Amino acid sequence: MILGAIAIAGILIIQLYLLKQAFNQEENKFRQKVHVALMEVVKKLYSDSKHELPQLNPVKEVSEDYYVVNVNQEFNADVLEFYLKTELTKFDLVNDFEYAIYNCETDGMVYGNYISFKDNNKVSTVKYFPRQANLVYYFAIHFPQKNQSIYASLQLWIVFSVIMFFVLIIYSYSVFTLLQQKKYANLQKDFINNMTHEFKTPLSSILLSSNYLIQQPVIQDEPKLNKYTGIIIQQANKLNEHVEKLLDLAKTESESFSMKLETIHPETVILDIMENIQLRHQHANISLRSNLGDKTIEADPFHFSNIIYNLLDNSIKYSKADPVINISLEQNNKSILMIFTDKGMGIPRNDLDKIFDKFYRVQGNRTNVVKGFGLGLFYIKKICTAHKWKISVTSVENEGTSITIQIPK
Ligand code: ADP
Repeated sequence: MILGAIAIAGILIIQLYLLKQAFNQEENKFRQKVHVALMEVVKKLYSDSKHELPQLNPVKEVSEDYYVVNVNQEFNADVLEFYLKTELTKFDLVNDFEYAIYNCETDGMVYGNYISFKDNNKVSTVKYFPRQANLVYYFAIHFPQKNQSIYASLQLWIVFSVIMFFVLIIYSYSVFTLLQQKKYANLQKDFINNMTHEFKTPLSSILLSSNYLIQQPVIQDEPKLNKYTGIIIQQANKLNEHVEKLLDLAKTESESFSMKLETIHPETVILDIMENIQLRHQHANISLRSNLGDKTIEADPFHFSNIIYNLLDNSIKYSKADPVINISLEQNNKSILMIFTDKGMGIPRNDLDKIFDKFYRVQGNRTNVVKGFGLGLFYIKKICTAHKWKISVTSVENEGTSITIQIPK
């Protein structure tokens, strides 16, 4: 972030520096052109009177937009205006200008005219022509819009600088939002961690007590009490499962997260989990096909089981009729593939690249019917990434979903 900010600020500074340079260059160009054009005017005036040109430079720059030209002989105001117009146009100096001529009898400047190449009716608002000592026959010329015309020629530069400035603002804003979001994400993580830990102890007590309760003869003899205690146990177990899931995720997000890799035989682990799930969901049809033989993999057994459990759980949750699930374990030269295919409700194409995001759930009827936190696939992806495995999904809505985990050999 800091490097990015330095880079953009650097570019902005360079841009402004170059803008200043370009401005100076344009100003120099203007100055040179004015000098040459005014020299031409003087030459013309002299050639009319057939006098020799003076040795000294007759054009004097009093300020950046005010020039005085010493002619050293009498001249006509109309002729001067004509020459000024033609010579300045010749040098592409089509800026507005005004001029005044010194009158030695009154010892003051006599205002000439305001010439605008675009708007003939324009009049001067300044009319400030300071006198020059030691000169007798001279005229002064003022360019009131000199800077505007230079800025106009630098339009593109200015636009680029403004764009750069906006880029800097947008960048700073994005960084600010990013930091803000990071802070909220951390707060959220801490909150979930603490909350789940706080839930765990009372839940264990409820489960312990109700398990003890249900074994008591008084409860066993009373069908209603027995049923209610059963509900307490069943619901507490469900809650416990959710808390466990959150805790598993919290573990992977903690800074001390590390995996304990062991050699495991995936087929055996999967068969165990299948059996377990089949007991709870007897209507599900889960099959396994494998051509791995004795092949083993290196994985964290706890997280590996969670992956399988979560994937099968999703396939069951998101099947409308009786779930049909097929697990296929294959291998090729480079990797071992675990493919989980179901004939459930599938995932809309637009959601496919987001289902691994934290808290992401596909919107629609299913979110009302099937409850969840949107953390299962996020957790699975995290664990796969930690193992350097690749996970991918293909799905057709209302036909089914297939999730493939690719384990490099
Ligand atoms: P949860 O199931 O808690 O919503 P997951 O991260 O496990 O969260 O899944 C994210 C979303 O992906 C789910 O909301 C669901 O819509 C969709 N999904 C996941 N697995 C399947 C599946 N096997 N079939 C159809 N949709 C699925």
